[in-house]
Amino acid sequence: MSTVPVIKGWCPGALRPMLSGDGLVVRLRVPQGRLTPAQARGVAELALRYGNGMLDLSNRGNLQLRGIDPERREGLIDALRALALIDVNEGAERRRNLMVMPFWQAGDDTDHLTQQLTVAAQSHALPAVSSKFGYAVDAGAQPVLQADPADIRFERAADGRLLLCAEGAEMGKPISRDTAVTEAIALAAWVRAQGATRAAHALEAGATLPPGFDHPRQSALSTPTLGLYPAGALVACAFGQMDAETLTALADLGPLRLTPWRMVLIEGATELPDLPSLITDAADPLLRVVACIGAPGCAQGRGETRGLARRLAAVVPKGQRLHVSGCAKGCAAPRATDITLTATAPARYDLIQEGRADAPPDLRGLSPAAIASYLRKSADAP
Ligand code: SF4
Repeated sequence: MSTVPVIKGWCPGALRPMLSGDGLVVRLRVPQGRLTPAQARGVAELALRYGNGMLDLSNRGNLQLRGIDPERREGLIDALRALALIDVNEGAERRRNLMVMPFWQAGDDTDHLTQQLTVAAQSHALPAVSSKFGYAVDAGAQPVLQADPADIRFERAADGRLLLCAEGAEMGKPISRDTAVTEAIALAAWVRAQGATRAAHALEAGATLPPGFDHPRQSALSTPTLGLYPAGALVACAFGQMDAETLTALADLGPLRLTPWRMVLIEGATELPDLPSLITDAADPLLRVVACIGAPGCAQGRGETRGLARRLAAVVPKGQRLHVSGCAKGCAAPRATDITLTATAPARYDLIQEGRADAPPDLRGLSPAAIASYLRKSADAP
């Protein structure tokens, strides 16, 4: 069997699901990144009725239903459409690739721009650059999504001005609420005109942004930790995976905002919930590990991932992150991690320091016991 992962070059949606080892993956681009309690209960019920009852939070703030029987997909889509969670067509779904800063408030710039971009996606006014091309709407006082993948960003400069930014560029273009979507459409069209599929690729190839991108961006806040915020309670699930029962229990606590950090913000909650399947302690070692579904859930997986990550979490050196990947594609962490384990065969992993899952390994073919020993020694090193 080849160890080279298949790069499909597109992300699954609801109208264009992807076949995985455990059935279809149906990914919901939840409007505004917000599920009402009725929608969350409905999705949980559909995950049990049509799938294997498991749901994933993606690193773009989407929600995936897993294990869907291809023969019953149409019934699922109809039911999701009744919950107002399905776009008018596949072209609109592909264009509406929006990552939304979860602490938005009704009527603020993030809320307003997300609604405007949604309208532009439904009418196909947003250019179809590529199926991975996406937008981060991050217009709070200081950005929080800069570490999360996007091509075009809406941010606020240190002087309070609203900026349009291309991924990979140090400067942004001042815009207003009224010009924001028109300017974003022009920037996406510029990327496409460069013959690129991603904004960063165009800049890496030496393209120069159009005039006006001359205002300094400000650096982002670090990714928020679990806890209470004015907007609600931020909680996590191990590996961003939850079962339908957990989603139902969360729905009883309030509307849910999805984040790209595999955390959920329970809107308006003033105390942390006491649900055993949730992580609410920011010091929990499971927050130091990320892992994709791996084998056998993913057909490309070369080895098991989440069980190993769970066992290793306690020995990951403090302040570091461990990524366990089922193959070199590295879906769970597209960027470099302190330590990455890439499965190459059952119970065999390559180890990469400060790199991605497809980087040249520092150590090859390690067993789980050898990895645990390596991590313990690293943690003890001065
Ligand atoms: S990284 Fe994991 S989820 Fe992605 S293709 Fe490989 S095994 Fe599958």
